[in-house]
This record gives sequence, C-alpha cells and structure tokens, in this order.
Amino acid sequence: MKKNIYLLGATGSIGQQTLDIIKKNPNKFNLVAFSGYNNYTRIIEIATQFKPEMVALKDKTDYSNFKQRFPDIKAVYGREGLNKLASYNKEDKSAYLVNALVGMVGLDPTLSAIKIERDILLANKETLVVGGHLINDLKKLYKFNLYPIDSEHNALWQLLDKKDKNTIKRLIITASGGAFRELNRKELETVNIEDALDHPNWSMGKKITIDSATMMNKGFEIIEACYLFDIDIEKVDTVIHKESIVHSMVEFNDGSYLAHLSKPDMHLPISYALFYPERFCTDIKKIEITDLNSLSFSKMDYQRYPCLNYAIEAFKVGGSMRTVLNAANEIAVSLFLNGKIQFLEIEKIIRTALDSHKKIDNPSLEQIYEIDNLVKSNIEKKYNR
Ligand code: NAD
Ligand code: MG
Repeated sequence: MKKNIYLLGATGSIGQQTLDIIKKNPNKFNLVAFSGYNNYTRIIEIATQFKPEMVALKDKTDYSNFKQRFPDIKAVYGREGLNKLASYNKEDKSAYLVNALVGMVGLDPTLSAIKIERDILLANKETLVVGGHLINDLKKLYKFNLYPIDSEHNALWQLLDKKDKNTIKRLIITASGGAFRELNRKELETVNIEDALDHPNWSMGKKITIDSATMMNKGFEIIEACYLFDIDIEKVDTVIHKESIVHSMVEFNDGSYLAHLSKPDMHLPISYALFYPERFCTDIKKIEITDLNSLSFSKMDYQRYPCLNYAIEAFKVGGSMRTVLNAANEIAVSLFLNGKIQFLEIEKIIRTALDSHKKIDNPSLEQIYEIDNLVKSNIEKKYNR
C-alpha cells in the first residue's frame, strides 16, 4: 500500500528533499497535502506538479490567489491551516505527517497529528525543544510514532534498535563545528552573514546553518535526544567530528561503540524515515570506506560555544525556560540574518532573555505561545533599529 504524505514546510530544504524522494518513487508515496509559507511561486509549482488534495498557505491574500488558480484544491491558511493540514483525513490509515517546518510553529500541528494518532516524521527539532513535555504527556493518551529525520537522531534510531537501555553508557552525537570552527572568539567579533551561511559540510536552511555556527543546533539536538530516546541528559554527549561521516555513536557499558556512517546528505535520513521499515537503496553518491583515510574526533570546547551551555542549562531548569531559549534564539538569528546585530550579539540576547525570565513549570501550549510572543517582541523592540 502506498504511503500518503502530508508535508509541512514543502518549500524548505528538508521539504524539497522529501519531494525529491516522493517524486522518484510514485509507486510508494502519494503527496496528499503540503504547506508553504514564503515562496508562493514554488508553492504554485509544487501544486501543479503533485496535484495534492490540500494546501496550507501563509495568509488570506495567498489563500485567495491560490483558490482562484486551483479551485479544486482545498486551501487553508495561517496557524489554523497548519493544524487542519496535520489532521486532515482523520480516517486515513496510511497517513504520515512530515514536519519540515522551521521554528516553534511546528509544535501545534505536531500535537494536532498526535491527537488523531498519526505517525510523524520529525525534522522540526524546535517542536521538541519547546514542547517535549506536551508530547510526553500525549504518549500516555494516544498511540503514535515519532520518527526522527534529523541525521544524528535518525542514526541513533538505527543504532538503538532493540538495545537494552541499561547497557548504554552514552549517546554521542557528532558536531561538524559549523562555519566558524577554525576561528577564535576574537575573530568571531567581525564575521558577516555570508561567512556564517557558508557551512563546510551541509547545505541547509538559513536558520539551522546559523544555529550550527553558534552550536545552538547541537544544544537543541541534545534536548531532542533526551525526549526521543527517553534518556538522561547526563548520558548524552557531543564531540567535534569535522568530516560529518559518523553521525552518531552509542557507547555501551562494556566499552564497545556502535557508530553510524554515511555521506552528509539529508536525502538519506529522510529516505530511511519515509521507507521504514524497509531500507531503500537511494541513488545518492555513497561513501567508499577505503577512501576514509582518517576520521577525527575531538572533545567539545564548551567555553568556545556558550549557546551549547545555554541549551543544556535551559533543559535542566526546564519548564518555560526552554520556550525562552528557543524564542530568544529564533528572533536573534533572524535579527542577525537581517543585518541588525553582530554574530556575537546572538548569544548575549539569549543570555539576557534567560536571566530575566521567571520559570513556569509544565507550560501549556497557549502559555508557550504567550511567552514566545513576549520574548520575541521585547527583543525586537530593543534591537530592530
Ligand atoms: P527552511 O528554512 O529551508 O524551510 C522551512 C520551511 O518552513 C519552509 O517551507 C517555510 O516556508 C516554512 N515556514 C517558515 N516559517 C513558517 C511559519 N511561520 N509558518 C509556517 N511555515 C513556515 O528550513 P530547513 O533547513 O528545511 O529546516 C526545517 C527543520 O528541519 C528545522 O527545524 C531544522 O532545524 C531541521 N533540520 C534541517 C536540516 C537540513 O538539512 N536542512 C537537518 C536537520 C534538521
Ligand atoms: Mg542534525
């Protein structure tokens, strides 16, 4: 039976790669619905090519334009539109939601899909950073699977298959070090946007590329691993691995390690999640093991990357502190990308936001939205000069 794919964030980097795989495997997948936000031309192309049943758009203007052009496709828009898409066709038993949105907007539709017991292929890590506790609560009420697309977690999913948790000493997720891995703190003061977007190994959306340069991305991934694999944060570690060939490792109590190796190409983890439980042979260029003359691993320098510490701290404090971490990061990265602040101001903004917040335990979805809005608007007022 074909898998029916409901794709959030089709116009982005993960979204596009998901569409590549769907297009190449028309006998396996059917794109039923997709969302796109700020690339209307691309939305038209995707709708023309895949002829979906439903499309979620940014706002009423895009909705009206789209309806005129495609009167037979159901159209929705805004935050509510994403929820409708995620839970569209409740009775579809072959439905999979691929969440390739960027930012905490991905949380609400994830919860909507869970509430109709739809399986989710998750790239959107901010969902777990901000709302991991809400997803955990829903695990007690609904049956669903959360399949990670993020390469490190996709690797851990494969490595941990049927392993006894008590035998695990550490989960180790690797970090390439991002665009500025060769620079010292002094040199970071003068870096520009183009340099920050020039990632040495991966081609990704702008936000995650900046998150990789600040190492916030690795902090998010540590939090993501805690929720996905129900493991204590003290047992999740990260090491610098410049080649991005080993994506994660599991260290066992007996001193053995298992590692996952592949080319740094997101088509692979996306394929693994889409085809699961089959392992499909993708046509991407494979690594030749004898070409790998050396793979390097070195200790993470936590002083060099304050954002990594902030993420771990926010997770340990817990509750709404994770919302503040994410909101401050989202707005600071966008200010940096718009040329409003320097690179090192990103970490300063996050530090200030964390310090000025009084934590709420177990924030509800609406409290998360309120705090998110407040943190973002306060920072924007101050820096959007
Ligand atoms: P991207 O910026 O390329 O794409 C994001 C998508 O979300 C786009 O379709 C955009 O239109 C949509 N979007 C943005 N803001 C929105 C809003 N407010 N409302 C509705 N839709 C909105 O991002 P990406 O690089 O594809 O990353 C997507 C997610 O996957 C992120 O959480 C990222 O951390 C994670 N991820 C990405 C990669 C990668 O290689 N790109 C790897 C691992 C994890
Ligand atoms: Mg990753």
